[in-house]
Amino acid sequence: MLIWLNGKLVDSKNAKISVFDHGLLYGDGVFEGIRSYNCLVFKLDEHIDRLYASAQAISLKISLTKQEMKKAVVDTLKSNKLKDAYIRLVITRGEGDLGLDPRNCSKPTIFIIADKIALYPQEFYKKGLTIVTVPTRRNIPEALNPQIKSLNYLNNILGKIEAINAGVPEAVMLDQNGYVTECTGDNIFIIKDKVLFTPHVCVGILNGITRCAVLGLASKMGLKTSECMLTRFDLFNADEMFLTGTAAEIIPVVKMDSRLIADGSVRPLTLKLIEKFKGLTKTQGVRYAL
Ligand code: PMP
Repeated sequence: MLIWLNGKLVDSKNAKISVFDHGLLYGDGVFEGIRSYNCLVFKLDEHIDRLYASAQAISLKISLTKQEMKKAVVDTLKSNKLKDAYIRLVITRGEGDLGLDPRNCSKPTIFIIADKIALYPQEFYKKGLTIVTVPTRRNIPEALNPQIKSLNYLNNILGKIEAINAGVPEAVMLDQNGYVTECTGDNIFIIKDKVLFTPHVCVGILNGITRCAVLGLASKMGLKTSECMLTRFDLFNADEMFLTGTAAEIIPVVKMDSRLIADGSVRPLTLKLIEKFKGLTKTQGVRYAL
């Protein structure tokens, strides 16, 4: 496997970074998870825009232009001869000393990994997921804004550990006031009386690329959409529930906190959105040839 590391494609055995890299020492950096479908990098422009916005929010200057960064992603896919892939693009503050001061880091470390995609088991898409709400609260935006896709994912990992301990694959995280934010690695949606609801970005969530795509699809389908404040009450009373993310795409949820959502089956509007989303993955993005 070839890794794009600081401008060169190197074998994964030789893709090494310093133990003094602040990405490792402090989680000081940003990243993206991107996907390619049959030689189409899905929503690459949107992912690159979000990456640069995350970097800007932590005062991290990226040496490459957006165009150069997109080319690096495509070069990594091509050199690994991957038609369908999961791409991890990481930018750290770079090698520094043992202090926090980012000014002592010489230059950002940039690397891109393109690998086969690890998916949720297919039966989850047919039968739906069971999830729980967990005690760990999502980071408050005033401390570390979840809109920044930073290398500091410990908040999400603590939520994930609680989900795993409860015997389920995903967890809903609430904010300090008990409002629903998102799951540990996915955004959350409900449908009630033919209106699609999802938490507003202001509550403290990552503004998912899949989330935006689904809001757009729903409008085109004639569904009303609302980005708002949601509580567990709203989730328990939903007609349908699903999660969205680059890896998961759209995955139905049928049970939360041991309670069935509606009748506990995967419902028609969710299935229709899944179908429509498949269409987007064939058309929206940057194409490359192997
Ligand atoms: N929320 C969090 C915390 C995430 O890490 C992710 C990405 N895995 C998402 C939401 C979904 O975002 P996207 O649709 O851009 O993958």
